[in-house]
Amino acid sequence: MESGTAPKVSEAANGAVSNGSSTETIEVLNPANGATIGSVAVDSAESVAATVARVRGNQAEWEALGVDGRYRWLGELRDWLFDNHERVLDTMQAETGKVRGDTMAETVYLTDLINFYGTKAAKFIGDETVRPHSALAASKKLMVQYRPYPVVGVISPWNFPLALALGDAIPALQAGAAVVVKPSEFTPLGLAEIVEAWKHEIGGPDVFDCVHGTGETGGALVDNVDFIQFTGSDRTGRKVMARAAETLTPVSLELGGKDPMIVLADADLDRAANAAAWGGMMNSGQICMSVERIYVEEPAYDEFVAKLTKEVGKLRQGPDSTGWDAEVGAMTSPNQTAIVKDHVDDALASGARALTGGKPVEGPGDYFEPTVLVDVDHSMKVMRDETFGPVVGVMKARDTEEALRLANDSRYGLSGSVFGEKNRAEQVARRIECGAVNVNDVLVNYLASDVPMGGWKQSGIGSRHGEGGIKKYCRPESVVITRFAGKREPTWYPYTRARRSLVGRIAQAFNARDLKRRLGLRG
Ligand code: NAD
Repeated sequence: MESGTAPKVSEAANGAVSNGSSTETIEVLNPANGATIGSVAVDSAESVAATVARVRGNQAEWEALGVDGRYRWLGELRDWLFDNHERVLDTMQAETGKVRGDTMAETVYLTDLINFYGTKAAKFIGDETVRPHSALAASKKLMVQYRPYPVVGVISPWNFPLALALGDAIPALQAGAAVVVKPSEFTPLGLAEIVEAWKHEIGGPDVFDCVHGTGETGGALVDNVDFIQFTGSDRTGRKVMARAAETLTPVSLELGGKDPMIVLADADLDRAANAAAWGGMMNSGQICMSVERIYVEEPAYDEFVAKLTKEVGKLRQGPDSTGWDAEVGAMTSPNQTAIVKDHVDDALASGARALTGGKPVEGPGDYFEPTVLVDVDHSMKVMRDETFGPVVGVMKARDTEEALRLANDSRYGLSGSVFGEKNRAEQVARRIECGAVNVNDVLVNYLASDVPMGGWKQSGIGSRHGEGGIKKYCRPESVVITRFAGKREPTWYPYTRARRSLVGRIAQAFNARDLKRRLGLRG
């Protein structure tokens, strides 16, 4: 899924959040009612280069603070997030059209993530002393130090505008990199507010900034930084990777998904149906890890479908403020409703039935009805391509093997879930081809920062979270220290038969695995 239509760009107006001398601005809309709520000044390629150069100039000092010094600053940001929680959620709600309940998870996640990497960084990226595997290297002390890429660029989407922008910046900053974020042009305000707070309220070192704009600004960021962390559609991911290849800049790509859920016959069907409703409709289904496809073993199919339809059918949809008036909010990107409608119409035209929902909602704001489709198959877009809306397709599977075959029949491999008796469900889950699986739960692996979250197949390259989620922002530098030595090594000049054969005999004595060769009696 890609943002085909950019938001409205116009000449700079007073009051736009600005980074420089841009003459263009992007208007930010509230998708719940269509009202303009703010604007940001677009960064030109020159302005992106200048921002990167500025934070690059301050990075060495930031790195020199060490993990504890950097955690102290990020701890200030954590406390600011706690103290300004409602304000942060208000901005997020206004620019995304989320219901209040869907905004809460982001700050919970971010504050936990700051503590996770702050307390684990020394273990994850501290110096490693490595024991030589061979006695031949016994005279050396082997160490690895992890040095950050000086400037990391983060390019993020609109569905979780803070978790996927600040969330990927946190481990990079904790690693000692300077970070420049390009948030989605649809939802730039929340991140801009946090960068302003970092600079002016917290007074943090000048190593964290953002730039605004569409793909052009994103491309300029790719050109200028030393590592790119990209989250978005697989289509844009390919462009980012191709552009990064020009400068041999490493990338980590978190892309789209088409996550399957398997419901085994022995599942708790109430829990499975409630999980499918939440996992498919949360954030209006605009989650890379949303439950989009459900395969149910035949004996459980009818009961599961009835329970799911009932649960989805009673969800309250519409604009929400802080009143907890709805469970399902707006579609955030103006293009997304059209994509969702296209998938649903394609399925209905090919014989699928909508047991609830099935069309966009009339009236102000941008909404699509929470939808359960049955009689679907893999020839339909809704079971093949990323829908990214409040829609699930449910298929009956003859048995577990058929459910697994269908679950794995996808070009995506982000995550998935299996419901059933714990041990059996775990065995099935281990065979799903994706980066993360939840047993008897959905989406929850994202909050388990201890373990990697990344996509297989066309869902991505690399991962976030866990040890690898901070190590990827570092380059290992092996340090080999000579502990004791004479004036010259036996491998150095001069080359003589006697010295060379001594080296050969010693190496054979250590590396041969039988006594005769060790003693040099064969070969
Ligand atoms: P998108 O690919 O359209 O845009 C993502 C970001 O890339 C935006 O900031 C955009 O301005 C920027 N961009 C666009 N063209 C660019 C270019 N040529 N060079 C550099 N940057 C460019 O995605 P979206 O519509 O904002 O987000 C939805 C997609 O994100 C879905 O596919 C969803 O699955 C995916 N997503 C993935 C994860 C994950 O962790 N795997 C998480 C959330 C969303």
